[in-house]
Amino acid sequence: MAGGWETVIGLETHVQLRTASKMFCGCSTAFGAPPNTNVCPVCLGLPGALPMPNEQALKLAVRAALGLGCTVHPRSLFARKNYFYPDLPKGYQISQFEQPLATAGSLSYLSPDRGIATATIQRLHVEEDAGKSLHDRFPKQTAIDLNRCGVPLIEIVTGPDFRSPHEARTYLLTLKQVLEYAGISDCDMEKGSLRVDANVSVRRAGETALGTKTEVKNINSFAYVEKALTVERDRQIAVLEGGGTVAPQTMLYDSKTNGVRPQRSKEASHDYRYFPDPDLPPLVLSEEFIAEQQTLLPELPAKKRERFVEKYALSVTDAAVLTADRTG
Ligand code: ADP
Ligand code: ZN
Ligand code: MG
Repeated sequence: MAGGWETVIGLETHVQLRTASKMFCGCSTAFGAPPNTNVCPVCLGLPGALPMPNEQALKLAVRAALGLGCTVHPRSLFARKNYFYPDLPKGYQISQFEQPLATAGSLSYLSPDRGIATATIQRLHVEEDAGKSLHDRFPKQTAIDLNRCGVPLIEIVTGPDFRSPHEARTYLLTLKQVLEYAGISDCDMEKGSLRVDANVSVRRAGETALGTKTEVKNINSFAYVEKALTVERDRQIAVLEGGGTVAPQTMLYDSKTNGVRPQRSKEASHDYRYFPDPDLPPLVLSEEFIAEQQTLLPELPAKKRERFVEKYALSVTDAAVLTADRTG
C-alpha cells in the first residue's frame, strides 16, 4: 500500500511457443536470421495464400493451458484483429477473441507481501506475432524485419489480481518457471520470446471498485516490470492527489530514464473489428488430443514444492529454492 492507496495490476503476457516453424506456414522461427529471410507468401499475407495451423504449436498451447489449470475448450475460433502498422503486411493479426482456446485457470506464486497468493488466468489464446520495426538500424529511417511475422504465441491474461509491482514480477517469474519446466517456451525477454503488457490502476484503501487503468508497454526485462509499474503507479497517485483524473491510455516505459510517457489513447476492442477468420475453420480438438497433452506435462514446480514441504518438512521458501529448476 502506497500512502493510503492500493495498487491493482493485471498482466497480459505473450509467450513464444518453442516450435521450429511458424504458426500458419512452414517458415523457420530461428532467432537472429538475416532480416526478411524467414518469410513466405503466407506470413507476408500475399493474395491467395492460405494459413494452416501448426500442430506442434497447438500441442504446446494446450499443454500451457493445462499446466495453468485452465479449461481447454474443444472448440475455439481464430479471429482477425485488424489494424494498420508497417510491420503488419496483412493488415491484421490472426488471434483469438470470442471463444479462446482456454479460460479460467490459476497460478499460485509466493507473494513477497502475502505468502502464497493465487493469480487467476482469465484466458489463454493462440495468436501470431507481427514483424519488427527497427529504429536504430539506419539513421533517421525505420527498417522493417518481417521474420517474426507469424511466429506462434500464446497470450496469457490474468485478472486484476496483483497488489504491488513486486507481486507482478514474482508472478511473472513463476509463470516463466512453469513454462520452461514444461518445455513450452524459453521465455527469454531479451529475445522477445516473453513480452508483457502491464495494466495498472490505483484506488483508495478500502475502496472496492476498480480505478481507471493504464497499460504500460515496452517493458523488456523482469526487473523493469517492477520499475515500470512503480513509476506508473506513483504517477497515477500524484495525478489523483493533485485533483486530476487518470486517462485510460497506453504508456511507454523508457528504461534509460526510468520514466513513462503516453503513447496513444487506448483502443477499445471494437476498434480492431475482430471477426472470425474466413480462411481458418473453427479449431476443434479431440478429447484424446487434450488428454495426451496432459500426460506430457512434467510435475510442475508448485506440486513439487508441496511434495518437498510434506516429505522433507521444509519451509515453503526452502522448498521453492530447491524446486526452482527442473533438475531440483
Ligand atoms: P481491456 O478492455 O482494456 O482489454 P480487459 O478487461 O480485457 O481490458 O483487461 C485487460 C487486462 O487488464 C487484464 O489483465 C485485467 O486483469 C487488467 N485490468 C482490467 N481492469 C483493471 C484495472 N482497473 N486495474 C488494473 N488492471 C486491470
Ligand atoms: Zn511464412
Ligand atoms: Mg481485453
